[in-house]
Amino acid sequence: SCGICVEKCPFDAIQILNLPQELDQEPVHRYGENSFALYGLPAPQEGRVTGILGPNGIGKTTAVHILADELAPNLGQVGTEPNWDEILDAYRGTELQGYLEAMREGNVTVARKPQYVDQIPDQFDGSTRALLERTDERDVLDELVERLNIAPVIDQNIDTLSGGELQRVALAATLAREADFYFLDEITPYLDISQRMTAARLIRELAEDENRSMLVVEHDLAILDLLADAIHIGYGQSGAFGIITPPKSVKNGINEYLSGYLENENMRIRETDIEFEEHAPASNSTGETVVEYPSLEKSYGDGEFSLSVEGGKIRENEVLGVVGPNGIGKSTFAKLLAGRLEPDVGEVNARLDIAYKPQYVEIDQPMRVDAFLSSITNEFGSSYWNTEIAQPLQLDPIMEQNLTDLSGGERQRVAIAACLSEDADLYLLDEPSAHLDVEQRVRATTAIRRYAEHNDATAMVIDHDIYMVDLLSDRLLVFDGEPAVEGHATPPQGMREGMNEFLSNLDITFRRDERTGRPRINKPGSQLDREQKNAGEYYYSP
Ligand code: ADP
Ligand code: ADP
Repeated sequence: SCGICVEKCPFDAIQILNLPQELDQEPVHRYGENSFALYGLPAPQEGRVTGILGPNGIGKTTAVHILADELAPNLGQVGTEPNWDEILDAYRGTELQGYLEAMREGNVTVARKPQYVDQIPDQFDGSTRALLERTDERDVLDELVERLNIAPVIDQNIDTLSGGELQRVALAATLAREADFYFLDEITPYLDISQRMTAARLIRELAEDENRSMLVVEHDLAILDLLADAIHIGYGQSGAFGIITPPKSVKNGINEYLSGYLENENMRIRETDIEFEEHAPASNSTGETVVEYPSLEKSYGDGEFSLSVEGGKIRENEVLGVVGPNGIGKSTFAKLLAGRLEPDVGEVNARLDIAYKPQYVEIDQPMRVDAFLSSITNEFGSSYWNTEIAQPLQLDPIMEQNLTDLSGGERQRVAIAACLSEDADLYLLDEPSAHLDVEQRVRATTAIRRYAEHNDATAMVIDHDIYMVDLLSDRLLVFDGEPAVEGHATPPQGMREGMNEFLSNLDITFRRDERTGRPRINKPGSQLDREQKNAGEYYYSP
């Protein structure tokens, strides 16, 4: 118990193991007498990218409402008018003083990218071009359209775009605005690694070249590491209170977050640390072959897109990570395995039962979570199901909610649970990390791994968060080629070979943090980058 809850903690997501000192002080804002309270604020800086790292539900959006001058902070005095002299006093001498003063004078304009890009079509009806032209206050649209590769969909109606396309359009629409302060709530969902890196580069350029303040919430740690100049850690108890720390260096901030212990705050935020293997794990998946497929070919239409797959074997009890850019044929391959598509060349003999979680989760029947999940499996509610699925995916707090009321991260967890609850030979999950925070990614990873092991099943997981792919996979299936034109897949291979192949296609190398062994993207052309490319070691230490 953290001291807030006397009974069993209802906020299973994060267990604060000692009571933070901040709780003795006044919060920045409290919604109601017994409602959520926020302590601390992030400090956007001109010319810099500031990151916030932390779980969902601890007040990041509340903090941004305050910084965007949409919510006047009440300093914990529920029901009173904000007293700006007091607020400015409270922040005198801190990184935030200048920002708050400018804000009080009405000198801060804000542009923001929403977290759930899937909802954009509900709010805007018209073509991509029309949406982007409305937002192009900086006259930079052509460049953004080119660099984010939006041209192929520029004349399509917004409601026909995929999640990845919407994400890039939303980024362009935000970055094209004329503002002092840009807030981007998650930039990576549905984007592949090169698209993630392009997004990061555009954000950095706007800070550096135009001296803007950028604030980014991001759960893909390899990208956050690359993107931010400093980060604030957010922690607390989802729904009860949230604390935003003063800024930390990106490297230390991420290391502390992963270790579960914040040094300056002397605060343990998690019982266990999250560790990465510096050396490639030996492939220990010795399970029986679930399916052996020969070389396959498939093209669509008049060969607008063609895929060729080298033959291979998929084994029981293993998690096969599937990596490669968007539009390269990963889903097509899955449909070939499932027998939902016939190959042009080759034949898949097995008729596998495949449980599939698509990339864009659309479960919006007017139905409660518990009713939905119990309609999928008789095991619903059994102690086995609870331990293997409900607990790691933190379903208890949302069981009684309607599917339509779930947040993106909640919907993702329900969709993963629904997929794993099916009786199948092969569980195929497309981007399970989308909208999950770091903690939830790690828990989902554990759930998927254990499930495959305990059920003599195979999980194939497509994801673009390299930390998640690393933690999750026993072997890798690597796709390469030219998106939307032609794709090629090699047979499943060991982690070292697979990572080397995948990252050499991308021309990216990772070094290791000397203290924690955590992988960090090298600066292109740096000495380490060149050395590692020469040695052919893109990811693991030799
Ligand atoms: P995050 O962005 O970190 O997910 P939010 O700032 O959206 O977190 O929300 C933090 C908490 O504040 C949540 O528990 C939410 O229920 C609560 N909250 C948000 N807005 C209001 C409001 N207007 N009134 C009462 N509680 C709110
Ligand atoms: P990925 O899963 O790697 O993102 P997909 O297998 O979904 O890639 O798609 C590969 C390419 O094939 C894309 O260019 C996509 O637009 C195209 N494609 C997918 N399904 C069809 C189809 N039914 N008809 C025509 N083209 C398709």
